[in-house]
Amino acid sequence: MMDMPLPLTRDLVLIGGGHAHALVLRMWAMQPVAGTRVTLINPGPTAPYSGMLPGHIAGHYTREALDIDLVKLARFAGARLILGEANRVDPVAKTVTLAGRGEIGYDVASIDVGIHTEMPGLPGFAEPRSTSASTPKCPAFPASPRMPWGPSRLTPTPGGGAIF
Ligand SMILES: Cc1cc2nc3c(=O)[nH]c(=O)nc-3n(C[C@H](O)[C@H](O)[C@H](O)COP(=O)(O)OP(=O)(O)OC[C@H]3O[C@@H](n4cnc5c(N)ncnc54)[C@H](O)[C@@H]3O)c2cc1C
Repeated sequence: MMDMPLPLTRDLVLIGGGHAHALVLRMWAMQPVAGTRVTLINPGPTAPYSGMLPGHIAGHYTREALDIDLVKLARFAGARLILGEANRVDPVAKTVTLAGRGEIGYDVASIDVGIHTEMPGLPGFAEPRSTSASTPKCPAFPASPRMPWGPSRLTPTPGGGAIF
């Protein structure tokens, strides 16, 4: 008997077509989950692969060589590609809103939109970092061969890592 494809009853939505989701799509192409429709949302049809950036700066690759062709990759993975920018995710209604367009529903959504260099625009970014009453104190780690200076030079920063 011929195998009938399962109807698509689940929606997996990938927001951002960069490094992380490009790898997901490549693996999905090799091992798809039956009955699941995959949608990729990315502002443009290509995404630069950051790992090749040093090679580009060194002159080994052209700028175009850095680009992942998302149209080809989505076709390879059997995914639909929406060219647009997601600007809202509602985890209760399970919808993603696309800038200037409508909403799409999801069962599972994954957000990998990389980093950006607009940090100064974030509230609190320009304020001096200090340990205040609301900032938890760094636990007292004993001095160790890996931290021979002990805890005194570790400063927890809200929303960040530890600064030495
Ligand atoms: C030189 C260099 C070397 C690296 N080497 C490694 C390595 O060897 N191993 C490793 O694990 N990591 C490495 N990294 C880090 C890795 O590249 C990043 O962690 C990774 O790119 C993050 O993946 P991402 O998919 O979230 O973001 P990105 O690859 O930056 O992609 C984000 C995508 O999201 C899109 N996007 C942005 N906003 C929206 C929106 N609102 N809606 C829809 N789409 C949106 C962007 O247009 C872009 O296409 C390296 C990074 C650099 C710079």
